[in-house]
Amino acid sequence: MKAAVLTSFKAPLEIQEFPRPKLGPGELLVRITAAGVCGSDVHMWLGEDPRTPLPMILGHEGVGVVEEVGPGDQKKDIYGRAIREGTPIIWDRAIVCGSCYFCAIKRLPNLCPFRWVYGIHKGCSQPPHLNGCYAEYIVLVRETKVISLADWGETDHAALVSAGCSGATAANAVELADIRIGDNVVVQGVGPLGLYLVAYARARGANHVIAIDGVPARLQLASRLGADIVLDLGKTSAEDRKDAVLSATYGIGADAGFEAVGRPEPILEGLQLVRRGGTYVSVGTAVPMGTIPIDAYHHIVLKQLRLQGAWTNDTRHIAEALSVIQQHPDVFSSLVTHRFALDQANEALAAMERREAIKAVIEPTR
Ligand SMILES: [Zn+2]
Ligand SMILES: [Zn+2]
Repeated sequence: MKAAVLTSFKAPLEIQEFPRPKLGPGELLVRITAAGVCGSDVHMWLGEDPRTPLPMILGHEGVGVVEEVGPGDQKKDIYGRAIREGTPIIWDRAIVCGSCYFCAIKRLPNLCPFRWVYGIHKGCSQPPHLNGCYAEYIVLVRETKVISLADWGETDHAALVSAGCSGATAANAVELADIRIGDNVVVQGVGPLGLYLVAYARARGANHVIAIDGVPARLQLASRLGADIVLDLGKTSAEDRKDAVLSATYGIGADAGFEAVGRPEPILEGLQLVRRGGTYVSVGTAVPMGTIPIDAYHHIVLKQLRLQGAWTNDTRHIAEALSVIQQHPDVFSSLVTHRFALDQANEALAAMERREAIKAVIEPTR
């Protein structure tokens, strides 16, 4: 069973063969039909993510078809539906302990200190080896939360992979921002994460949804998902953008702002686009990317602004992402601008690194 293996940072992934694993009770062997190439995969490949063990199989966003079900009781998805050989599924990329302070008391399993993620935390040198999505097959452990896609029919699996990562993370960020009907919302950066933020803000009844990005194709998708004001970084100054937000909000500023860029620098601008008493959520910067100075008095305290981080997601956010895809299937399909075979995994990473692709997807067994 072939997989694209990261053996050293900044070097090409190597296609390696692994033996077909012997499944334990409750485990699933899944044939990967679509593996999302996430921005964080590029950081891992470059050695910028402190969590990366070597050698490892990249890829934490996957959709696939069950090839084999481990021994034991009937396997069910989170809705109680049967999981059998041939069932198309998506799954929660994270495994959490369920019994620590964060899981059991605070109900924040995304912050569980024992949380681990397929394609991020585990090396592939030990059996069952197949624990990342840049592969023909993956083994899902018994604790994995699975959602059957049996009722989705002939869906483009590549359009669904982001539901498990950026779509779910964006759902968590929007929940934390507590967007209400009539709120004005600014989204800085409309890659996959920001596009989901736009869709959720619209679904929650926002008044204006203002999208900021430097790539016209991304801004077009943002418009299709409900952004009514789009600001191109190449055609506007910071002053222009502030004027645009203020004039859309009677001089008050946005109720909520989101950093979905992946760097901390836009945060300073974002804080100034949010109104007094508003909320600003930084969700894009998912690996260490340096620091920025913040004027605590003017930007935070005087405004009584809530500065909120959003880290990954809980399982319910994946269901929310799937629901928003179901409302806009064509947009989420066209968000996938680049598709690759497994042996083109390096080209897929390069397309994301060069920011050519809005979303690149590897289709190992298309
Ligand atoms: Zn991801
Ligand atoms: Zn826990």
